[in-house]
Amino acid sequence: MCFRPAAVSKPIECPNCKKKVASVGGKRLKQCPYCKEDLPEK
Ligand SMILES: [Zn+2]
Repeated sequence: MCFRPAAVSKPIECPNCKKKVASVGGKRLKQCPYCKEDLPEK
């Protein structure tokens, strides 16, 4: 199997409001849903 759970469920901490933004379904958000701040890609 090629499933890597560590790469899927890695929450991003927003640099502005410090909230944890979890990637849903392996789709990485580009903006914070709370404050609309741009999130780092990595
Ligand atoms: Zn934010």
